[in-house]
Amino acid sequence: MIDVKALLDSGATGMFIDKKFAEGNEIAMRSLDKPIRVYNVDGTLNQGGSITHEVTLMMSHKGHKEKVVFQVCDLRKSTVIIEYTWLQKHNPMIDWKTGDIKFTRCPRECNVTTKKCKQKKAWAFKYKTSVKEVDEEAKEKECEDNEETEDNIYL
Ligand SMILES: [Zn+2]
Repeated sequence: MIDVKALLDSGATGMFIDKKFAEGNEIAMRSLDKPIRVYNVDGTLNQGGSITHEVTLMMSHKGHKEKVVFQVCDLRKSTVIIEYTWLQKHNPMIDWKTGDIKFTRCPRECNVTTKKCKQKKAWAFKYKTSVKEVDEEAKEKECEDNEETEDNIYL
C-alpha cells in the first residue's frame, strides 16, 4: 500500500499515473497494443510523448476500494490524476475547506461503509422489530467503528 496524492481534475479525460512514480515503486506495467498520443491544449503533440503503458491498481479511501486502470504518463506535479467521469460516477461529498472526501452517494457496486450500515439496519429490522431503538444505536456505533478502522488514501 502506497500513499499517494491524487489530483481530482474535472477537466481530465482519463485516469493517469506518473511514470516516474510507477517506475520508482516498481509497479508492473503492461504495454498497450496501440500507443495513445497526447496532445496539448493548442493541438500540438506533447513533449512527453505517447502513452505506451498502463497499470492496474487498487485505489482505496476509507471503506472505498476500487480497481482502476491508469495510463502511465509524465505528470510531473501530481502522482495520480482522477477524471471527471469518475467524479460523476461516485459523486463524493467534498469538504473544500478541509479536503475531506466522503463517499455517500456511490453507485451500488461500490462497497462503501454507508452501504454496509444500510444492510445491517435492514437485518436488524427484519429480526428484531420490537427493539428498534436499541438496534439503531448499535448500528450507529458499528458505523463509527468502521470509519475509524478503515483508512488509507490520501487525496
Ligand atoms: Zn464509489
